[in-house]
Amino acid sequence: MAYRVLIAQFMHETNTFSKLATTLDDYRRRWLIDGEAMVPRFSGTKNEIGGYIDAAKQYGWQAVWAGAANATPSGKLTRETWETIRDMIVGAARKAGKLDGVCLSLHGAMVTETEDDAEGALLEALRGVVGPDVPMATTLDLHANATVRMARHANALVSYRTYPHIDGYERAVQAAALVQAAMEGKKKPRCLLVQPAMLEGAEHGRTTQPGLMLDLLAKADKFEAEPGIDVVSIQAGFTWADIPYTGPSIAVSHEPGAEARAKAIAQELIDDMWHRREEGAAKFYRPIADGIAAARAGTGKKGPLVIADGTDNPGGGGYSDTTPVLKALIDAGIEGVAFGTIYDPRTVQQAMKAGVGAEIEVSLGGQTDPEMGAPVKAKAIVKMLSDGRFKNDGPMNAGVETNMGPTAVLRLGGIDVVTISNRIQTIDLQVFLSQGIDPAAKNVVVVKSVQHFRAAYAPIAREIVLVDSGGICSPDISRLKFTKLRRPIWPLDGVNDPHAGARA
Ligand SMILES: [Zn+2]
Repeated sequence: MAYRVLIAQFMHETNTFSKLATTLDDYRRRWLIDGEAMVPRFSGTKNEIGGYIDAAKQYGWQAVWAGAANATPSGKLTRETWETIRDMIVGAARKAGKLDGVCLSLHGAMVTETEDDAEGALLEALRGVVGPDVPMATTLDLHANATVRMARHANALVSYRTYPHIDGYERAVQAAALVQAAMEGKKKPRCLLVQPAMLEGAEHGRTTQPGLMLDLLAKADKFEAEPGIDVVSIQAGFTWADIPYTGPSIAVSHEPGAEARAKAIAQELIDDMWHRREEGAAKFYRPIADGIAAARAGTGKKGPLVIADGTDNPGGGGYSDTTPVLKALIDAGIEGVAFGTIYDPRTVQQAMKAGVGAEIEVSLGGQTDPEMGAPVKAKAIVKMLSDGRFKNDGPMNAGVETNMGPTAVLRLGGIDVVTISNRIQTIDLQVFLSQGIDPAAKNVVVVKSVQHFRAAYAPIAREIVLVDSGGICSPDISRLKFTKLRRPIWPLDGVNDPHAGARA
């Protein structure tokens, strides 16, 4: 008899400091797919669903495809959004009758108007339907604010081990293999989670340079190879969430009898994080002026300077329409620039009315929060108009369609601005290539991204400068007003022992 396994995705990284609520329309703009239509959509892709599709084939599962939902990071999900998608998945589980396993793709930092720990609530609801003995595993983003409730109801939390996240497929395959082994009775995983009294840790999980995260992952790999230990996941946490559970955590899935060892593993990784806590992420950011200076200097090397506007990164809930970097480039007279992107649907509509080749007066960007920079007023030539859809062909989410919504390429002096109607993070070269711009041939490329862009852009860049433009995703946590966070917590309070008050 083929095993019956429910497979679903429900992802969101919620920046509770954003003023933009996340709605069902926000999901529809990325994807909100009911039932088995998720299979043709993601077959052959390299995200988690692509991994589950291949695993289901490999193991001959009778899969119950419950649906897939993903939206660009922004503020809290409205109650309607959360309940609609939750009920789609839990309803499918109820309708399915007897299930042998559950495989999920979640983020781990989703917050709704009614739930601070949305993934914990979803896992609890599913556990209530399938019963205590059905193995349930989920992939998580390594920026999950993971909770003890998630670990109690899932048998495994399998987090990405890369940032940029290029291993979603592999983590799904790993989660599926564990569920298969558990259904066959070869494994009996239980998950425990330890969260220290820390708000930040492990340099936000960056894996593109030697550092703490790579050291932790190397240890985690070794621990995972021990008998009795099934999964060792390190979550760096997502700082921009005012909930009790914000911050790094360690999740260990273990076999019966290995609980003490699993706890010791979690403690050791947390000790490492604690001892190297000063290795923060803020040091990676530089002022905009450094980016402009690098653009002026050039290096004689081939390829563009990539300026990453990391604090307006829509991948962390940034508005993607702040203007300080654009304004600085214009003021400095920098030419040969490709700018991706500015979110400004109104200006896109203006360009569409005017048509390709027209010259228009724009008031570009700066619409969501004028305190983060006024709109740029300038003459612009409409270079290209499109529906803004392309397929990623870089290392991250390869094969997955991205939808920027109606899109206009506007030329302001020597700057081509990809102006979009649907916030997306610039992680793929196709943001430009699909718009008739070759980023490799440019002098300067600006991306609204903090780290994911590196997977595709580092190979073409002559230099990369990450700048702090004062956006919502600032690394300066003193700007964030926490009211719900567990306390005391490092670095906001005097903490001597990260295990004191730890959640486990
Ligand atoms: Zn992430």
